[in-house]
Amino acid sequence: SPLTSPLEIGPRKVLFGWKLRDISPLLKDPVAFKALIDLLEDHLRASFPRIDVIAGLDSRGFLIGPSLAQRLGVGFVLIRKKGKLPGPTESISYALEYGKAELEIQSDAVEAGQKVVVVDDLLATGGTMRAACELLVRLKADILECLVVIELKALGGAAKLEAIPFHSLLQYD
Ligand code: IMP
Repeated sequence: SPLTSPLEIGPRKVLFGWKLRDISPLLKDPVAFKALIDLLEDHLRASFPRIDVIAGLDSRGFLIGPSLAQRLGVGFVLIRKKGKLPGPTESISYALEYGKAELEIQSDAVEAGQKVVVVDDLLATGGTMRAACELLVRLKADILECLVVIELKALGGAAKLEAIPFHSLLQYD
């Protein structure tokens, strides 16, 4: 139904924009960025004896995933917004907080049974991460964990992932 007032849109939509969390300051500071990758690497090494692939979500998962994959000595694959990837792809549409979107993965991005960690900057409602996991399940990947820097707890995204293991470094309400 039509919106009557911008103030009524929802918890994160404020009068002149969005209340967003931003990892840009972390990326800009080389010491902080190294510490971020150190923490993610330590967490994954302590949690899983074997990881085959890091999958990153468009677009800020691409800023974290490749550095992490290099540390672990594994490959990195992209889960992109619709229409960006060449060749055969799997695609899925899903709901955003306001609107909808579509994600794609190349059909040969991972092999059946490969152990995958999915990374992104932030989990809000969990819809994006859940859709990415559904793509990986279609490719018969073994999803070890969804891993994000920031979790917005009040939006309940982790519950949307149901049984898929999830970890966040920082939590906000
Ligand atoms: P979700 O699908 O509602 O969990 O939204 C998560 C996706 O939207 C991730 O790919 C995030 O990068 C992006 N996103 C949502 N909210 C924010 C935010 O506050 N800051 C940065 N990215 C966000």
